[in-house]
Amino acid sequence: MPELPEVEYAAHVLRAAVIGRTIRNVRVLHPAQRRRLPSRDVARVRGAQITTVERRGKHQLISLSTGDTLLVHFRMTGDWRVHRARDDAPRYARVVLELDGDVHVSLVDPRALSTVTLHRDGSDSLPVLGPDAVDPTVRVETFGAALSRRRVAIKVALLDQRVLAGVGNIYAAEALWLARINPRAIASSLTRARQQRLLDAVRSVLAKAQRSAGRYRDAGVGRFEVYDRERLPCSRCGRAIRRIVQAGRSTYFCPHCQRR
Ligand SMILES: [Zn+2]
Repeated sequence: MPELPEVEYAAHVLRAAVIGRTIRNVRVLHPAQRRRLPSRDVARVRGAQITTVERRGKHQLISLSTGDTLLVHFRMTGDWRVHRARDDAPRYARVVLELDGDVHVSLVDPRALSTVTLHRDGSDSLPVLGPDAVDPTVRVETFGAALSRRRVAIKVALLDQRVLAGVGNIYAAEALWLARINPRAIASSLTRARQQRLLDAVRSVLAKAQRSAGRYRDAGVGRFEVYDRERLPCSRCGRAIRRIVQAGRSTYFCPHCQRR
């Protein structure tokens, strides 16, 4: 599941391939994508030049010379593949950006839950998001204030993109383990010291993941401390990692290191 580090890496790959290029056509290959990006929107982006690619949380914003923005969210399994015009579109390609200079970029997505939508010049394209999770200017007071309004489990609060944008299921679990905070602790009950520890831990796990995001797809899972490690030993205390379900999502934690 792509979270901030993986989306940042994907945006970096996209940026290198598309900045300054003109969109010749957009092929929309999946019915769900056609509903989100209808033919009138495809007609509107033809001939536009791509000026910037930015990331906000887990969203990617592709800005066009026309002032419009293509907003992309990978959801569960989305990713970019850059290829040449004469190559067949990759397996599970859902949307293909056909650019000048023999560059095609496919949105590859086995689950087909990704979204690509066009936002017209000046229209508000993003949902309400909190500060970016890797923004170094975020202060613990801001983070703490967002937590203090949430009487839900801290793991669930961390997934709320209005608290910190970009954190998902994997890095929320990893950060809580690093900060030694029980995922079921109530968000609003965290002391300032624990808020600070958690904010530091979120930054630390995201920075580490960003450093390895380029190798992510080759290496696969296996670089985590708790995520997807049910019954395996905790690297800190040796006791077994546990899995519970919170808000419909799996949470992995060490019941010894992360006592309530
Ligand atoms: Zn442990």
